Amino acid sequence: MANTYNINGRAYEVHDHYHDVVVLGAGGAGLRATLGMAEQGLRTACVTKVFPTRSHTVAAQGGIAASLENMGPDSWQWHMYDTVKGSDWLGDTDAMEYLAREAPAAVYELEHYGVPFSRTEEGKIYQRPFGGHMQNYGEGPAVQRTCAAADRTGHAILHTLYGQSIRNKAEFYIEYFGLDLLMNEDGTCEGLVAWNLDDGTIHRFNAKMVVLATGGYGRCYFSATSAHTITGDGNAMIARAGLPLQDMEFVQFHPTGIYGAGCLITEGVRGEGGYLVNSEGERFMERYAPSAKDLASRDVVSRCMTIEIREGRGVGPNKDHIFLHLDHLDPDMLAERLPGISESAEIFAGVDVTKEPIPVLPTVHYNMGGIPTNYWGEVLNPTKDDPNAVAPGLMAVGEAACASVHGANRLGSNSLIDLVVFGRAAAIKAGKVIDREAPMPTPNQACFDKIMANFDMVRHANGSQTTAQLRLKMQKSMQNNAAVFRTQETLEQGCKEMAALWGEMGEMKVTDRSLIWNSDLMESLELQNLMINALPTVVGAEARKESRGAHAREDYKDGPLGGRDDENWRKHTLAWVAENGDVKLDYRPVILDPLTSEEEGGIDLAKIAPKARVY
Ligand SMILES: Cc1cc2nc3c(=O)[nH]c(=O)nc-3n(C[C@H](O)[C@H](O)[C@H](O)COP(=O)(O)OP(=O)(O)OC[C@H]3O[C@@H](n4cnc5c(N)ncnc54)[C@H](O)[C@@H]3O)c2cc1C
Repeated sequence: MANTYNINGRAYEVHDHYHDVVVLGAGGAGLRATLGMAEQGLRTACVTKVFPTRSHTVAAQGGIAASLENMGPDSWQWHMYDTVKGSDWLGDTDAMEYLAREAPAAVYELEHYGVPFSRTEEGKIYQRPFGGHMQNYGEGPAVQRTCAAADRTGHAILHTLYGQSIRNKAEFYIEYFGLDLLMNEDGTCEGLVAWNLDDGTIHRFNAKMVVLATGGYGRCYFSATSAHTITGDGNAMIARAGLPLQDMEFVQFHPTGIYGAGCLITEGVRGEGGYLVNSEGERFMERYAPSAKDLASRDVVSRCMTIEIREGRGVGPNKDHIFLHLDHLDPDMLAERLPGISESAEIFAGVDVTKEPIPVLPTVHYNMGGIPTNYWGEVLNPTKDDPNAVAPGLMAVGEAACASVHGANRLGSNSLIDLVVFGRAAAIKAGKVIDREAPMPTPNQACFDKIMANFDMVRHANGSQTTAQLRLKMQKSMQNNAAVFRTQETLEQGCKEMAALWGEMGEMKVTDRSLIWNSDLMESLELQNLMINALPTVVGAEARKESRGAHAREDYKDGPLGGRDDENWRKHTLAWVAENGDVKLDYRPVILDPLTSEEEGGIDLAKIAPKARVY
């Protein structure tokens, strides 16, 4: 039954729903969590702003990492080592072990759910090499660990998980835009409020557990491989609930976005033998990373490309990009294993990959930071006494979450595996902590009033700048000041510009006042969310006086560790964003203990002790 809610003389139709769990987001992480909850008979709702199979996971090309050993020797310990090194020693050891150890079972589970993986001659799951994944604790050569369904792996996974979720009777609320969390006075999350985009009604999802699976926030930047819907909405909800975000300064640039368009060309291309050249025709990665070459990790390759361009060896009329060659590879292999990127290169760069190189440039691709969680997906509310204290009623999984397995830099194909391993873990944990007999929460009126006040305010915003104008300013500022290389000067400039822009948000102008398919209003709400992500990104980066992973500061690059300062900075940044845009920072220790001791078959701790990161 619907109620009417009045605010500023305007009436909204409000519907209430009651579930054990509500999952916000239907990408790989949200669907794996939804499926796991529904399989246990928990009453589960999955709320999503885009149709499930249009979530950004659908665009994932290259594959999903797991040490299956189908194509040669491998072990979960080697995978864990590569992840630790890839993270530049900022990941949490327990979570990284959980990821690497559970990965093979998670991939076989996907296979049994029906994911159509590419196959080897013997019918096993096909695996390709990917950046930073090596044999023998990093000594090499490259390991074939990345399981692939041609170059459409995310597509295959998403469709399979959606079908399985329907089969298990999860309820879907599709094209509902999540506005904010319903928090009660003692800080417990009791549900969320969403706006039904197609009829304009407001929905309160009252639940014993909320799982945020809203993906990253790549669209804070001007050039990104991510979909336009990747706006950090869940992260923003956490910040507005007074909880901290973690490690936001670590933003991954993928080496091979198509020049101009920004669309991704998967690292799988280099895994299959593609390589980068500068204007002198030199395969320059051999000079920077003699052992891994073009398959060094992403932060490393992006920096080398940027240096080549800065030193005048870029290609094209403006010498401002790099060429990626595939034209030496067998055309039949390209058609079979990389059909999608051949098509993208044709459409977005006008290039026939069998004959010409693809023009590429490092492009924002992934957010290592996000909502701090433990390896069960429970959201953390760290205190001085307990840096691992849990926020009741809240979980986060996928790119929105920071477990933290990717630390300062994520390895390619480690995100898709993160989605399914931690989506599954969250479902297991929720099955244990949710009391099915307990009464349903009732919505906190004060919290609901505040959510509606903001919604109504944005809907009627009548300032002097359009949402598109404000968004462009933010994207340009982030791109100019917090990119592949950073300095004190650019970061201070970034902090200043973002603080000023926070003030300008009050001048926002929305022209469409309707409630039905109002993309102007939705993009304005998304811009509010992007701003809450952009601020701690640049403020955290300014404060972190070292270089680590994707955070490369030109003013901190000397010393045996290349500017990394383990003594002072091997710690997670926590950032609280206040309503007036002030960002308060604090820090949380990195978890150093693994789950399994060496005697019980765990990794040799000496192997993962910090050292210089070279490929
Ligand atoms: C082009 C590209 C290629 C990639 N290739 C690979 C790869 O080969 N291997 C790999 O490991 N990783 C890859 N990645 C990274 C990986 O795909 C992503 O990190 C991952 O898919 C994110 O999944 P997710 O489930 O966290 O979120 P997403 O798939 O981004 O889904 C987010 C969901 O949240 C919902 N949502 C968000 N906000 C709201 C809101 N306010 N209200 C309601 N719903 C909301 C959306 O509707 C959507 O369903 C790639 C990324 C890109 C961009």
